[in-house]
Amino acid sequence: MDDLSKQIAGITLEQESNDDQSEANDFYETRRVSRNVNFARLEKGLLLFIYIHETTKYTLHLETTLWDRRACFNVINSGNCSKPRDQCRREHEILYRQPNLCMFWYTQSCKHNNCRYSHRFENLSQYHHYIFTNTDNMIFKLIRFVRNFAGHYIDSAIEDATDVQELQREVVVLMTHLVHSLSRKRDNSIEHLNLFLEATTIKQMISIGDLLQKLEKPYRVPEIFFQSSINFTTHWYKCGSSKRSIDFKQISPECQTYFNNIFVGFYHGRLRSRGASAAWD
Ligand SMILES: [Zn+2]
Ligand SMILES: [Zn+2]
Repeated sequence: MDDLSKQIAGITLEQESNDDQSEANDFYETRRVSRNVNFARLEKGLLLFIYIHETTKYTLHLETTLWDRRACFNVINSGNCSKPRDQCRREHEILYRQPNLCMFWYTQSCKHNNCRYSHRFENLSQYHHYIFTNTDNMIFKLIRFVRNFAGHYIDSAIEDATDVQELQREVVVLMTHLVHSLSRKRDNSIEHLNLFLEATTIKQMISIGDLLQKLEKPYRVPEIFFQSSINFTTHWYKCGSSKRSIDFKQISPECQTYFNNIFVGFYHGRLRSRGASAAWD
């Protein structure tokens, strides 16, 4: 192992001992290993996420450009870039303007302790309607992942059965977190999880009380889920891969309201006619 991988391994171990965060395996800790999560039990959730992604992607595209640092700094700074659109590699179609934003902070990191420029996006609400925090942006990336997984996943491409099983658990627990933080719901209840996901899959996890408690903690998601393009024809997922923490509590009220309505729309359009009851008052 080179020094860098040793350091990364060290960081991973440190984070795993941290009780304030949870991981997919924690959601199965009291269950027998023999009870596998099979793909058929993911399908209800995957169909939901295709709908959610297709319904929201055009609306959110412009706003995520800024958080992904794909927007042209000159346009943010002054409203114009001297390069023609086809020569600047950054996105010009953005609404956001902030003349005092620090270029170094925006593009990578700024080394000035007392930098005279701003190290945060200010007055976002003047320009944005939905994406106000890093968590909002991460949530949209994770929805995109589940949608792409739904469309392109080939289980035979992942040659190791243990990797397949862990991946399927990761996807279940991720969808559970997303539904829990984005759907309307009743307090102390998992009705919303059973409404939008396969109830038998939810039942395979830890007890309801423990589940609701764990869903409130920051959650560690495989880093690869944030990537915009995954080659699903390769062995792209391996057990124990590196992870990134997301605190779903940091979702902005605007983002939450927006998605609440999308979930309600899915319920009215797709689930109610099949006899399902709403999981909220
Ligand atoms: Zn430009
Ligand atoms: Zn700076």
